[in-house]
Amino acid sequence: LTDPRIDVLDYADIAAIWPGPSYDSHKYSTGVVGVIAGSAQYPGAAVMCVGGAIRSKPGMVRYVGAPDAIERIVAAWPAAVGATSIDDAGRTNAWVIGPGMGTDDAARSVVRSSLSLDVPVIYDADALTILSGDVDRLRERQAPTVLTPHSGEFARLFGEVGDDPVESVKAATRRTGCVVLLKGPSTIVAAPGGRVLVNETGSSKLATAGTGDVLSGIIGAALAAGLPAQIAAAAGAYVHGALADQHDGPLIAPDLIDELPAFMARLQ
Ligand code: AMP
Ligand code: MG
Repeated sequence: LTDPRIDVLDYADIAAIWPGPSYDSHKYSTGVVGVIAGSAQYPGAAVMCVGGAIRSKPGMVRYVGAPDAIERIVAAWPAAVGATSIDDAGRTNAWVIGPGMGTDDAARSVVRSSLSLDVPVIYDADALTILSGDVDRLRERQAPTVLTPHSGEFARLFGEVGDDPVESVKAATRRTGCVVLLKGPSTIVAAPGGRVLVNETGSSKLATAGTGDVLSGIIGAALAAGLPAQIAAAAGAYVHGALADQHDGPLIAPDLIDELPAFMARLQ
């Protein structure tokens, strides 16, 4: 029996909603994604996150980090544009904040000041750890916000996921006003009010380092293109899982990025 509280997106939904350039598009109209990710300890997380975003058909990805981090990103993704602070980044339509960024004072200060950004933000990974001390400040956000915890990150933010995970996620959205995407074998995506979306693409092949960083980049591109936050999050989860499903053999996170062009080409 299906749970009456939920809907499941299918391929036709994704084909209908996934944004892309049209005849008179330019790079700003297609959506500019800002990414704050990575650190000396986890440089690869930024490469994965920018890769997920840049292969999901945005107009541009801007990466904000220290000069050596920008150098690494541009070496991996020459089409990415670097900046050393949010204020210097120029126009963006959405931000992805958190993968591998660490939790030191500098990271904490970036996350706190990002609360006032007036464009959609997706917080993942270390940003969620930082915000777990400040959950109620998420209510300050004026623009749409997506939180993408796995169960451990969810527990730090809101307490353990209960016996009814859909209700746990709904309670988290009521508390924060954010879209909450709880990762797992089925990914649950709730918004304040309305129905819950559940994603069933993907498999345990995804239980490997860096896949979540790719997911946040994909969702960032969908947000920057202007999809409503819950749809962007659920569609991103669908695409991410489908990339794993279409990949033959063992999977590492960069394979998901390599699968994106073929997936996007089929959507046309
Ligand atoms: P993270 O924990 O941030 O690295 O994210 C892991 C990603 O892989 C999420 O998108 C999960 O939904 C997905 N994932 C991990 N384990 C499984 C699993 N057993 N079945 C399906 N998806 C999974
Ligand atoms: Mg993660």
